[in-house]
Amino acid sequence: MPGSCVFNDNWLVTPEYCQWVARVQGDYRKARCKLCLKDIDPAKMGECALKSHAKGAKHIQLLKMRHSDPGVLRIRDVLVSASPSRSSMTESEQYSHYGVGDRRP
Ligand SMILES: [Zn+2]
Repeated sequence: MPGSCVFNDNWLVTPEYCQWVARVQGDYRKARCKLCLKDIDPAKMGECALKSHAKGAKHIQLLKMRHSDPGVLRIRDVLVSASPSRSSMTESEQYSHYGVGDRRP
């Protein structure tokens, strides 16, 4: 139903999403990508919002890195839970740290 979609617990066990999707603390409707540290609002598109996010180039790159280095996700998990409101500030720093961003020092 458009406009009424909320976070679906099934996403946490769906192989396609379970590696990166998480709940957003304080907003039961939204999902968060643990790799990109981005909030995904399924209100309008429902599961399609996750699907379209999963197609993003940056997300795919981070997902590949996650497979090659499981430690990356562990670090991000800590960052997500420790500082949910500061993710946008540290986002570029993290990307450059892991060599994902386009920026060069
Ligand atoms: Zn992502």
